[in-house]
Amino acid sequence: MGPGPKVKCPPRLAPCGLRLVQVRFPTGLTSEEYVKQEAWRFARLERCPFHPEGGCGLARHGTYARVSPPGCLIARWWCPTARTSISLLPDFMCSRLTGTLAEVEAVVAAADAAPTREVASEVLRPDVELPGALRWLRRRTRLVHAGLAAAIGLLPGLLARCEPTITSVRSALGAEVALVRLRAELVPHLAALPPPLGFGPRPAQRRSSLTALQQESGTDPPSGTR
Ligand SMILES: [Zn+2]
Repeated sequence: MGPGPKVKCPPRLAPCGLRLVQVRFPTGLTSEEYVKQEAWRFARLERCPFHPEGGCGLARHGTYARVSPPGCLIARWWCPTARTSISLLPDFMCSRLTGTLAEVEAVVAAADAAPTREVASEVLRPDVELPGALRWLRRRTRLVHAGLAAAIGLLPGLLARCEPTITSVRSALGAEVALVRLRAELVPHLAALPPPLGFGPRPAQRRSSLTALQQESGTDPPSGTR
């Protein structure tokens, strides 16, 4: 990593400690193709999101591994001025949830179609006791529905008269998989949209569900450089 000239952060973007920022890596690849081609090696970050004028010392900062899909690495940069790590997340990948957008979308679609959340939990997570399976499912449905509701507000033409459900949005898009398509449609808004679709914070929540979320181990931020 080169030292690079020092540039003061604008006050608006003043760093408040170590952060993880994700930006879009539009590969057009499936998760299998991305892993097979080791496409993270071709990831490029042309400009620092904090210092588009340059001069901040932005440098490549290795990769980190995601739990799923196996063998999937994420390219990472480091801005020493903002003291921030910047990950290039391929379009098929969930932000801040394990796995791919297609996987979480399938889970939420199955939950929406099931007679009750308990039934859905038992079918989708037979390997986990019911309370844990319900927490796992609630986290995904809540985040995806929040992302869909936000998308409907941001894309009033494309998603006209949509309900914030996978079925309704798939139908409006004429797509078998909605979330990957939505990430591409929502590029200017991704930093503000909730994960796993967007790269923003999780929506505000009640205290009881916050506790439930904290009991499930996260997937980001990365634990090491490879
Ligand atoms: Zn920078």
